[in-house]
Amino acid sequence: MTVKVESTLRGPQAYGLARKVVDRMEAAGVWPTPLNFELWTYALGQPDGALAGEIQRMTEAGEPFTEAVTDALAAQHLPRGRLTDQIRDAGQVLDRELSSVSSVIAEAQKSQAAYGQTLEQAATSIGAAEDGEGLQTIVSDLTTATRQAQHETESLEKKLEASTQEIVRLREHLELVRRDAMTDALTELANRKAFDEHLAAACDHAETEGGALTLAVLDIDHFKRFNDTWGHQTGDQVLRYVASVLGRAAANPRFAARFGGEEFAIVFPYESAAMVEAALESVRREIASRSLRRRSTDDDLGAVTVSAGFAVRRRGESASAFLERADAALYASKRGGRNRVSCAERLPKAA
Ligand code: C2E
Repeated sequence: MTVKVESTLRGPQAYGLARKVVDRMEAAGVWPTPLNFELWTYALGQPDGALAGEIQRMTEAGEPFTEAVTDALAAQHLPRGRLTDQIRDAGQVLDRELSSVSSVIAEAQKSQAAYGQTLEQAATSIGAAEDGEGLQTIVSDLTTATRQAQHETESLEKKLEASTQEIVRLREHLELVRRDAMTDALTELANRKAFDEHLAAACDHAETEGGALTLAVLDIDHFKRFNDTWGHQTGDQVLRYVASVLGRAAANPRFAARFGGEEFAIVFPYESAAMVEAALESVRREIASRSLRRRSTDDDLGAVTVSAGFAVRRRGESASAFLERADAALYASKRGGRNRVSCAERLPKAA
C-alpha cells in the first residue's frame, strides 16, 4: 500500500490525487490538517484498501470523523507514524555523535600516551647527555613534541565542541518531539498519555512527601447534542474554547489535560478542597457566561456549560481509584442537573 501511494504522489497523477483528497475532505466536513490529509491520501490512493473501506463505511453510516477517530485510524492504518520516523532519525544522529565522541576520546588517549613516551625518553636522554649540544637537541625535540600535542588537543577540542553542539540540538529536537507526543493537537492541552504519566507521578510525590493532591474531572454538557445540531467542526471550536478557559485557570503547578472526547481533567497539588472548589466554580461560571457564535454562519450557539467533580487523594490510594472517585463526583453533577461542581468527599456513601 505504501509503495503504490508513495509512487502515485510522485507521478503524473500526484496533483489530481491531492485535489481529489481536498475535495473529499471538504465534502465530508473534515479539517485539512496534515494528519487528515495523510489519512485521506492513503485512503483515496488505494481505494480497495482497508482504510478506504473503513472511511467509506463511516461516511455512509454518517459517523463523524472526530479527532479521536482520526488518531485511531492513523495508528491502525498509516504505514509509518511521523513520530516513529523522527525518533528513529534522532536515534541515528545520536548514534553517530556518540561514536564520534568515543573516537575523539580514543584519539586523545593515544596522543597523550605518545606525548608521555616522548617525555620519558627525553628524561632518560637528559641524564645521558654529555654536552650542551646534546641538551639543545633534546630541548628542541621536546618543543616540537609539545607543539604537536597542543595542536592535536586543539583539533580534538574542536571535534568535541561540534559533537556537543549537535547533541544539544538533538536534545532540543527530541524535547519538541516529546512535547508533541504529549499534546492534544486540537486544544493544545496535555493529552491522555501525558495526563496518565502526570497523575501517577503526582500520586507518588504526594505519597512520599505527604502534600495534598486533588483531581478534578470536567465534561461538556450535552456535547453530543451540540455536535449533532451544529456539526463537529463547530464542536471542535467548543472544545478549544473550554480548553482555553481551563488552560488559563490551570497555570503551573496545576495541570490541565484533555482526557477524552469532551472530557478534561485538572490536577491540583498543594491546595485545600475549598481552594479547588472555588477555582472550579470560577471555571464553570466563566464557561457558562459566554455566548458562542458559529463562525461559518454567525449563528448564535448560546452558552455551553460544564459539569465537574473532584476528589481529594486519600493516603495509599492508587491513581486509578483516585480517578474513579473524581469521576463518580462528575456523574453526581450530571445527575444533579449539570452545570455544577461536586465533591467526592460529600457524596452519599454507596449502599
Ligand atoms: P481562536 O479562534 O484561535 O482564538 C484565539 C483567541 O483569539 C481567543 O481565545 C480570543 O482571545 C481571540 N479571538 C479570536 N476571535 C475573536 C473574536 O472574534 N472576538 C474576540 N473578542 N476575541 C477573539 P478564546 O476566547 O479563549 O477562545 C479560544 C478558542 O475557542 C478560539 O480559538 C476558538 O477556537 C474557540 N472559540 C471561542 N469563542 C468562540 C466563538 O464564539 N465561536 C467559535 N466558533 N469558536 C470560539
